[in-house]
Amino acid sequence: MTFPAPSHDHDHCIAAALALAEQECRRRGARLTELRRRVLALVWDSHCPIGAYALLDRLGHDGRAAAPPTVYRALDFLLDQGLIHRVPSRNGYIGCPRPDHPHAGRILLCRRCGRASELDAPDLDAAIAAAATAQGFHAHRLSLEIEGLCPACHADGPE
Ligand SMILES: [Zn+2]
Ligand SMILES: [Zn+2]
Ligand SMILES: [Zn+2]
Repeated sequence: MTFPAPSHDHDHCIAAALALAEQECRRRGARLTELRRRVLALVWDSHCPIGAYALLDRLGHDGRAAAPPTVYRALDFLLDQGLIHRVPSRNGYIGCPRPDHPHAGRILLCRRCGRASELDAPDLDAAIAAAATAQGFHAHRLSLEIEGLCPACHADGPE
């Protein structure tokens, strides 16, 4: 996994994510309803985290406004299925490109362009869980955000 370049075939990202979401939901017997699919597509609209209010706003622009609780339930479903990850510091969400390999969200967040990607470090969860256990702590959920500069922004020069 590499950090998405400023210009890349993002239509491909969206198409691949939606196809994989449909495949995973079918395999698990989970229902990817029309609204859940629309919310997922909106989250995938860019690599920048998007918040619930912005999602509601965008859904309203379709002329088929959705009630806030409906959107929150759709987000909960997408989170449960690992199709999106929460980005706590931005109070937003990003799409996950690998929902077929369940994992905790480990977010690389560029402080200049605001885009996010995932840190590919499979050993990390186990290391953190082991360290938590060593302190007698039972870890249930792990989230991790790493702020910095993406390759393109770093190439533009220091802050
Ligand atoms: Zn993309
Ligand atoms: Zn992910
Ligand atoms: Zn950047």
